[in-house]
Amino acid sequence: MTRRDLGRLAGAALATSQARNRIETEVVRLRLRHTWTVATSTSDYRDNLFLRFTAQGVTGLGEGAPLARYRENAREGQQALENVRADLETCDPWQFGKIMAEVFRRVPGNFAAKCALDVALMDWVGKKLGIPLYRYFGLDPRDSPLTTFSIGIDTPEVTRQKVREAAEFPVLKIKVGLDTDEATIAAVRSVTDKPLRVDANEGWKSKEEAVRKILWLERQGVELIEQPLPAHMIEESAWVRERVNMPIIADEACLHAEDVPKVAGAFDGVNVKLAKAGGILAAWRMIQTARALGMKVMLGCMIESSVAVTAAAHLSPLVDWADLDGNLLIANDPYRGVRVREGRLILPDAPGLGLTPA
Ligand code: MG
Repeated sequence: MTRRDLGRLAGAALATSQARNRIETEVVRLRLRHTWTVATSTSDYRDNLFLRFTAQGVTGLGEGAPLARYRENAREGQQALENVRADLETCDPWQFGKIMAEVFRRVPGNFAAKCALDVALMDWVGKKLGIPLYRYFGLDPRDSPLTTFSIGIDTPEVTRQKVREAAEFPVLKIKVGLDTDEATIAAVRSVTDKPLRVDANEGWKSKEEAVRKILWLERQGVELIEQPLPAHMIEESAWVRERVNMPIIADEACLHAEDVPKVAGAFDGVNVKLAKAGGILAAWRMIQTARALGMKVMLGCMIESSVAVTAAAHLSPLVDWADLDGNLLIANDPYRGVRVREGRLILPDAPGLGLTPA
């Protein structure tokens, strides 16, 4: 090696050590097609946190959907990530597992912001490897289950209209949990005899009411019920479970992998969401924890764009049920990624998440 080669090498090393990763965050307002009402809230838009992570000439894109229910919002999440910005700017993104473990240790709460970072890192990793993320996890995209399409709480007339708009979807997820439940299900059943899944979003207040409503739903062609009682009522959920036949799925009662053992006796399955868990890696751990305990797994989402929904979709070959429709509920999705054909999730084949601008 000549002196000039050595000098060039040293220069390259210096350039590498000085090249900082670029982290850009942005709060984006996603507008809902229909006013979105569930048992605990109503909204016309959601502010989600988007994150771009650029290193070595490649940019990974991430998104996290903070929920007021979990006392999170996008601005605070954006601020929380500023506390680790210096480390993210100098990190080696190939150490994504170590990076996320460190961020989980240092940043309290703000799981949606952690999700935005994790998704961006995993998109970066997939792009660098030149493979779609499902392949990184060793999965077969043909194993992805059908996704439900969610119908928020509304008047019977609008409910009927929404059900007609969802003609393409073979299974619907109906939001209940207010005193309009009977009218809602009657409106749905006046238009379709499709299988239904029902989400009460903690709306029923006693175990007796939950049993009565679930036994009634069993006669309406409903396959499963999500979070019938408030999150803290774990013992009451176990009581309900002994008295009904359909599977009961924990959502608000089970946010992280460490919550899964706490709900194991009281629920048949858990609804795993990237924004609750804090990203793809955390969601993967949560799925494996549920499987180790013999539980069923649903993969859900928030109101979010194709960025976060596609990230979740790459794990969907692992689960029993998918509810990945958040991007279909908004009017201004900035990206395209996972598609749905007759309810079936079609994963993109491009590297990383496989997103393209809309
Ligand atoms: Mg739910």
